[in-house]
Amino acid sequence: MSTIPVGGLVPGTAAQHAADVVVRNAKIHTGDPRRPQGQAIAIRGGVIAAVGDDRDMAAHVGPATKVVDALGRRVVPGLNDSHLHVIRGGLNYVLELRWDGVPTLRQGLAMLREQAARTPKGQWVRVVGGWSAEQFAERRLPTVAELNAAAPETPVFVLHLYQSAVLNRAALKAAGYTKDTPDPKGGQIVRGRDGAPTGMLLAAPSALILYSTLAKAPVLDGEDKKTSTRHFLRELNRFGLTSAIDAAGGFQNFPDNYGTVAELAADGQLSLRIAYHLFPQTAGQEVDDLARWIGMTSPQDGDEWLRLNGAGENLTWAAADFENFAQPRPELTADYEVAFESAVRLLMENGWGFRLHATYDETIRRDLKVFEKLAAEGLFPAGNRWLFDHAETVSADSLDRVAALGGAMAVQNRLSFQGEAFVRRYGIGAPPTPRRSAPCWSAV
Ligand SMILES: [Zn+2]
Repeated sequence: MSTIPVGGLVPGTAAQHAADVVVRNAKIHTGDPRRPQGQAIAIRGGVIAAVGDDRDMAAHVGPATKVVDALGRRVVPGLNDSHLHVIRGGLNYVLELRWDGVPTLRQGLAMLREQAARTPKGQWVRVVGGWSAEQFAERRLPTVAELNAAAPETPVFVLHLYQSAVLNRAALKAAGYTKDTPDPKGGQIVRGRDGAPTGMLLAAPSALILYSTLAKAPVLDGEDKKTSTRHFLRELNRFGLTSAIDAAGGFQNFPDNYGTVAELAADGQLSLRIAYHLFPQTAGQEVDDLARWIGMTSPQDGDEWLRLNGAGENLTWAAADFENFAQPRPELTADYEVAFESAVRLLMENGWGFRLHATYDETIRRDLKVFEKLAAEGLFPAGNRWLFDHAETVSADSLDRVAALGGAMAVQNRLSFQGEAFVRRYGIGAPPTPRRSAPCWSAV
């Protein structure tokens, strides 16, 4: 049945029309200007059967109907986060200490001291995401000395965005960093006068040094990975999320690191619908990896709970710019387009859509040149959905070119964490308005 009577009664008996779920005593926005607000809603077979007052619901309640009293709260449709690293996040969630919304560094350090005291030997304390130094009254990062005082024995790794990380003495030792450890490409191990690492790591500008150090920390075993993922999904549900699109990421290998969500999906234990992407991990082998995956699986494989969307958010490492707004824009190699074009061509020839991480308009313009060349060969059909992720400095001209190719933009809330650094470097400018309309998928 497709009728949606608002505030009306469905004729017939309750038994015939019993809803699966009735939510009453709620605030419901109907979208109907004649009667914008409802108090109760009946749902049958995944479809809204009626919206109205509590008393209208009698006809929809049968013996098997689940009746929920919303206690006067607002009811909204499930929210989707269009850019989340939910698979990787789930594997580590219970290992993290979260500083979301903590108002002072002093309080953050007290939490850290408490967490270190209950952390099993061999494990690390890690503060990874969801916070920035700007949220603290002190407006600064913790020092290495403060981490040492809070956790003299337990390794502590504090990540600040994709800008820097602070490690205590125990973490430097556990990571094996000494005065003989060379700086990785695009990263800096800050050193004292004697050449020994101080505990500060800088993305300069590549964040690889940060997450490759975190990757040295012990991981959970199979069952614990499932428990951790379920906790993470429950936490997301608390914010109203019922689905997310996973953007994959560094150290998220296919198929190995997708095993936990696949097992949970098979057991009916996912509480969040996930559409996922595949992200080549090894520089120089990206096109080979994509070709291998194209032979293994296809977009839309899976079910309504766990489904493959396409490739990304990186297609090739050399084409990825880094969003460390505390540092100048990285200059990408002069010829990244060679492998990048092969990757995009391969995907488009095989009906794979993709999402593409790109922060700066300089990168987006180079990518668009490749897309326009392939589009001229007929390789950008309407059915293959693709988008740019992030695009903080995108120009109006580039938005027009994206729209002309049938692509989309996915914007995120990164500036709520890095806004101060961005404004210091680029100033405040109104976001560009596309002159043609482009679909825009915005994240929660
Ligand atoms: Zn990204």
